[in-house]
Amino acid sequence: MTPESTLRADIVEVGRRMYNRGYTASNDGNISVRLGPDRLLMTPKSVCKGFMTPDMMCITDLQGKKLQGDRDPSSEMLMHLEVYRQRPDVQSVVHAHPPIATGFAVAGIPLDRAVLAEVLTTLGSIPIAEYATPSTSELPDAVRRYIKAHDGMLLANHGALTVGADLYSAYYKMETIEHFAHISLVARLLGRENLISREEVLRLQGLRGTYGIKAPAPIWATDDGDQPNPADCQIVQAPSSPGARLVADVIHRNSRDEEAGSGNDEAEIRLTYRELSQLIEEAVRSLR
Ligand SMILES: [Zn+2]
Repeated sequence: MTPESTLRADIVEVGRRMYNRGYTASNDGNISVRLGPDRLLMTPKSVCKGFMTPDMMCITDLQGKKLQGDRDPSSEMLMHLEVYRQRPDVQSVVHAHPPIATGFAVAGIPLDRAVLAEVLTTLGSIPIAEYATPSTSELPDAVRRYIKAHDGMLLANHGALTVGADLYSAYYKMETIEHFAHISLVARLLGRENLISREEVLRLQGLRGTYGIKAPAPIWATDDGDQPNPADCQIVQAPSSPGARLVADVIHRNSRDEEAGSGNDEAEIRLTYRELSQLIEEAVRSLR
């Protein structure tokens, strides 16, 4: 068991990293670790995570009763308590608002497409927990649906949540989510997001055991919109392609080709009212 003094120092260090990387602003975010079977060490409410000191932390029980500390525990304590109740294997919980991942959470776009092998073997998919008012009991309710099968998730119009077997593993998953969101955003801006095939996703899942990765649930690779229970599996969008490991992104490719004027007569185009009026005027003029 890691000494309490080390865990306090580790929370300070992780808070500093989150703030320096822009994952939190002002007093956002919160961090907790298990101190024992029924005790948690948690960041206090209303402090900037970039400037904490080890003595600021609170100790609570698993019902949220404060046992020690001058300050009150995090306003998101209910969400942390719910995670520890649902996941006896989890030793640490990290919550932040990393801006690109949170942008996906605001856009309602889950990070669940089979894009990066490293993300598939570790986190699997990163779903979005339904919107809930922060710091109320709605948030633990929203998180409960996904936390049994996922070590990381987005929180709709709010931020991201990660868990781990120790504090640093929970924090690194937050880094992975933001990095993945960044890469996904760049690929989509470039106009193409090729996917890893379903067959390759299942092969990667087999490597979890080889690498000693302990995932809370298996991956469910799909391309036909089936909806298994996200409490039982990590749902990943991956088209079947027995002959190829990568599958060209048809949706984005088509939209780009349309813009380039590929001559597809069935393609949709968009015009402003002004552009449409000009086209009609020109057509009428040419008739005269
Ligand atoms: Zn938050």
